[in-house]
Amino acid sequence: MNCSNMIRDHRLTFFITLFFMIAGCAPNSDRQGAGKNGVPSGKPAYALVIHGGAGVILKENMTTEREKAYLRELNVALDIGEEILRNGGTSLDAVQKTIMHMEDSELFNAGKGAVFNHEGKNEMDAAIMHGEKLMAGAVGGVRNIRNPIIAARAVMENSPHVMLAGKGAEEFARLQGIEQVDPSWFFTERRMEALKRAQAEEMENRGGENPDQKHGTVGACALDVYGNLVAGTSTGGMTNKRWNRIGDSPVIGAGTYANNHTCAVSATGHGEFFIRYAVAHDISALMDYKGLTLQEASEEVVMNKLVSAGGTGGIVAVDRNGDVSMTFNTPGMYRGYAKPGERIVKIYKD
Ligand code: ASP
Repeated sequence: MNCSNMIRDHRLTFFITLFFMIAGCAPNSDRQGAGKNGVPSGKPAYALVIHGGAGVILKENMTTEREKAYLRELNVALDIGEEILRNGGTSLDAVQKTIMHMEDSELFNAGKGAVFNHEGKNEMDAAIMHGEKLMAGAVGGVRNIRNPIIAARAVMENSPHVMLAGKGAEEFARLQGIEQVDPSWFFTERRMEALKRAQAEEMENRGGENPDQKHGTVGACALDVYGNLVAGTSTGGMTNKRWNRIGDSPVIGAGTYANNHTCAVSATGHGEFFIRYAVAHDISALMDYKGLTLQEASEEVVMNKLVSAGGTGGIVAVDRNGDVSMTFNTPGMYRGYAKPGERIVKIYKD
């Protein structure tokens, strides 16, 4: 090769390198995250994983129309969050907006579509946690906040507290200018029928768990291009609950947890077990102290510990490398995830 050819080759290499460096910096691109010295690490630029509840969800009990409706809503929820993440938005915004969409959908047990308590009222719980400084906010037993996840975020960002309940949480939300609605806004015929069924079964078998139980809670976990992990969960709790019962969803470490060093987790299932087994934190702790992968930790907690205890449900989670887990010990879980160039949405066990 003569001298002028060599110079031309070097120039070409320089311009190609420059092009890829600039392209790699654009927050709008679907790039994979860059490792040290710009070498691709295989880590996706972002990841979002969601659930719409776990439980006895069987194909034979589902109409084609209903199945399509669930898949459509899960996809729309993922679209909303993914667009935020793809455009360089934060995992906090992605989680909040994704959950708001599911709260506004009657299909899920959160916001509109929340289940009824024993007195025929809707009482909702929600939480959000940011993994950078372990900041968190939660509301429990609220009855007039259209999107409880907004209130949970406001508790985290605009109050010195982590968890507010009942009337106090509603008053705080009012002062924050968060949209409030008449409690009748949450009424749905389908959930009222479920309450009547649960109460009839309760009369028959004195407190045995409703075999038709579906945990339709919603949750989302995201990793953004800044490396921040966020988890959020929102729910109407469990049908026929009493005495201002609050479940695991708003309990930090039980139904919701995020830590940038490990993972973000959102759970759904029989809340009492998730509280007692500190499920979301346990998954993070197994990664932290024992060096387990996200999938290993999730399986240890959901498929071993919870199954041995009789706790039904599942989790969705994402770790700091953008790996996701959707692990459940029930026949089904509404779930899905989105990463650059990758999208999965599912209902039943594989
Ligand atoms: N975990 C929620 C609760 O116990 C219920 C659910 O996941 O649907 O309140």
